[in-house]
Amino acid sequence: MQVYVHLPLCRRKCRYCAFTSWEFSSEAAARVVDLIVAHVGRWSAQGIGPAHTIYIGGGTPSMWEVRQLARILAAVDQALGIAVGAEVTVEANPESALRPGWMAALGDLGVTRISLGVQSFDDQTLAFLGRPHDGAQAVAAVQAAVATGLAVSVDLLWNVPGVSLAQWQQDLAGAVGLGVGHVSCYALTAEPGTPLAADPVPWPSEDEASAQFHWMCQFLEERGFMHYELANFARPGAACRHNLGYWRGEDYLGFGPAAVSTWQGRRWTNPASLEDYGLMVEGALAPKAESLSPAVALRERVMLGLRTRDGFDVASWACGLGRDVAGFGAALGPLVQAGLVVWDGISVRLSRQGMLLGNAICAHIWDILER
Ligand code: SF4
Repeated sequence: MQVYVHLPLCRRKCRYCAFTSWEFSSEAAARVVDLIVAHVGRWSAQGIGPAHTIYIGGGTPSMWEVRQLARILAAVDQALGIAVGAEVTVEANPESALRPGWMAALGDLGVTRISLGVQSFDDQTLAFLGRPHDGAQAVAAVQAAVATGLAVSVDLLWNVPGVSLAQWQQDLAGAVGLGVGHVSCYALTAEPGTPLAADPVPWPSEDEASAQFHWMCQFLEERGFMHYELANFARPGAACRHNLGYWRGEDYLGFGPAAVSTWQGRRWTNPASLEDYGLMVEGALAPKAESLSPAVALRERVMLGLRTRDGFDVASWACGLGRDVAGFGAALGPLVQAGLVVWDGISVRLSRQGMLLGNAICAHIWDILER
């Protein structure tokens, strides 16, 4: 099983951020930890562990003290168990991760992987994004993370207004040059309601965005990174097992405000506010729950499968329902001929070109499956 822990506080809100997060205070941070520990404890003695992957995300988990993270992990171990060899990831932002001793202490807690929210090494780009760190801190944080000997991933943003192809090349080459084994490269989007969405700044054209994407894929693959998911690249053995579990549709439990759980065909979302999350942990408020109908579950499997290098396993789906795989392959013909998907008679996956049109292709494949 998989465990996700959401620590929803940040130094301040980045201009593009639509995640559930609020401004950090020590009191709120302590309250979040108390509630999560109590919430995890409610799952004890149910025989559902151990956790094979744990992902502590946010928010900015590096704003919490090491002893607080240790408390959360100890609670998970006590209630569910943590499997030998489990992957344990902690997200971190450069400025807070650089606090003396913070990263160096993570290994002793059983953390195996640090995911650093760098986004760019360029001061001007970081200021535009509203990030609380500068380029020098980003470099220093990646160096310090690599020096811990833990697996290190770096998040970067492309498709950023005002950032040229040359600047993007410099950012990505900078991360690879610092020796990380994993990079997550997300296309920046204007999420409704964010300050960025209200900014009239001109965005990169489709051609510019496409050039950044294609260069990124080629550059990383030439340097031994496998493009194993739309936005994720890993050196051999460095793929994120936790996220692979999501994309393969495995069950997971989510702890913390706004965290989502999917368990045995049910999905529920914890309340987003700290007050309501507290009521939920006490049993006075139910989380928002839904049952996943077979149709919705299939759509999700297709969407998540298409994000990955393995694609969506059509043969298994067809076999379970007595459907015709050859007929599916024939219906895919125009997408194959346009070079947007690859069909090997068993699975369908997006080509590199198709990745830029992922949503439209996914909708088309849903149509074929539901005919
Ligand atoms: S650090 Fe991450 S979660 Fe926090 S405000 Fe910035 S983008 Fe959002």
